[in-house]
Amino acid sequence: MSFTLAIVGRPNVGKSTLFNRLVGKKLALVDDQPGVTRDLREGEARLADLKFTVIDTAGLEDATDDSLEGRMRRLTERAVGMADICLFMIDARAGVTPVDMIFAEILRKRSAHVILAANKGEGSAADAGVIDAWSLGLGEPIRLSAEHGEGLNDLYTHLMPIADTFAERAQEAQDEVAIDVDISEEDDSDDVDLAEDLRPSRNISPNRPMQIAVVGRPNAGKSTLINKIIGEDRLLTGPEAGITRDAISLRTTWSDTPIRIFDTAGMRKKAKVQDKLEKLSVSDGLRAVKFAEVVVVLLDAAIPFEQQDLRIADLAEREGRAVVVAVNKWDIEDEKQQKLKDLKESFERLLPQLRGAPLITVSAKTGRGLDRLHGAILRAYDVWNRRVSTAQLNRWLTGMLEQHPPPAPQGKRIKLRYMTQAKTRPPGFVVMCSHPDKMPESYSRYLVNGLRTDFDMPGAPIRLTMRGQG
Ligand code: GDP
Ligand code: GDP
Repeated sequence: MSFTLAIVGRPNVGKSTLFNRLVGKKLALVDDQPGVTRDLREGEARLADLKFTVIDTAGLEDATDDSLEGRMRRLTERAVGMADICLFMIDARAGVTPVDMIFAEILRKRSAHVILAANKGEGSAADAGVIDAWSLGLGEPIRLSAEHGEGLNDLYTHLMPIADTFAERAQEAQDEVAIDVDISEEDDSDDVDLAEDLRPSRNISPNRPMQIAVVGRPNAGKSTLINKIIGEDRLLTGPEAGITRDAISLRTTWSDTPIRIFDTAGMRKKAKVQDKLEKLSVSDGLRAVKFAEVVVVLLDAAIPFEQQDLRIADLAEREGRAVVVAVNKWDIEDEKQQKLKDLKESFERLLPQLRGAPLITVSAKTGRGLDRLHGAILRAYDVWNRRVSTAQLNRWLTGMLEQHPPPAPQGKRIKLRYMTQAKTRPPGFVVMCSHPDKMPESYSRYLVNGLRTDFDMPGAPIRLTMRGQG
């Protein structure tokens, strides 16, 4: 199972750095491979559990025989021709340059699937360039730092659906443990949509399955819940019922919502085989979080909010996932009213970073509460994808500033000038202001909480960045 990714962009944006990071130093140079000319490097890349071929088009600086632009154009076109997908890289600290615009035009014309990456994205010096990158008309940029290894999760999230498309073409390579449920021959038309979807605008297509992971301590009831969601009968009847399964996920529909759900049970089986249950269960949770768009943190009602639960919930928030907390085994609770009150209190106290995220009581065993869980997941996903217009935001910001003016450290008032939503999934906002470094946490929190309340984004892992002018 493999696909080919070409990294393209003008010299010095960091293509080789990313290439080396993906391929690993050892394999970085593959000069003498037949069919690969010296100016295109090719290597086998790894990103978490993804394996693919990566082509690097670095080396343009050496162009002496030809005009840079002509050479660049040919090289890029060749790479585009060889690749299933292009990662178009710009330097976020330099912003969009005229040469970048030429590239964008080539890529748009060739209509390859393009992922836009704004590299050197570490630190606030890159904020402006990341926003600028939108102007290339290639959709939302992924903020990367190839050198520091940041943003690779986002890259992974974008590559994963493509990997799945190709995986289906090479099912023999499946992990043998995963094939304990038949792989369906089911209509794969939504894979096509998926690939389409990776084109610039990346709008959420109704066919694109929502990626869900259920995480929690051992015995919380994860497998029981997943089985209930995919329908035990269908699990038994297999392919005809429309479940496809790959090494890490199951695809099905849940109340008419196409979903892809992280296969906790499959992972566990594998862990047992490898006799490393303890070790794997931790990285398993991490993998699940990285996989997911929506993370369901499943608690056992009898022992809720244990250390491990808190850790994974916090991880999901830090990774910017939409989070829904579900309290399982509600069927065996007495005193439900009091218990629910206690749970809500504990939730607010122990996980303030998830303020406003839904808490749903369920019984995976009986299926009670699953409709409400489904509804909560859809809402959380919707919030995660929410986009607020710049005009709306700035009207809102004016009101917020009037209500509670920003502080004046050392007698100099911080001026908040302008605000825009730089990204979705999760929602990320940028405020242009004077002295961004002096902005106290409390004021940022005031704004974030305001955004959550006023734009109906409860529980969203909102990112807010302060940026200076110029
Ligand atoms: P290429 O010509 O596009 O292949 O660019 P290189 O990978 O050779 O990188 C050009 C320069 O940018 C090198 O000095 C890198 O160390 C530097 N660089 C690459 N990635 C990053 C990054 O994420 N952050 C910063 N600050 N520098 C980077
Ligand atoms: P996992 O380790 O998180 O995958 O947990 P399992 O799904 O294997 O469930 C652990 C145990 O809890 C099993 O004995 C299940 O039958 C039980 N269990 C799971 N969900 C419920 C529930 O909603 N109510 C009750 N009473 N028991 C449950």
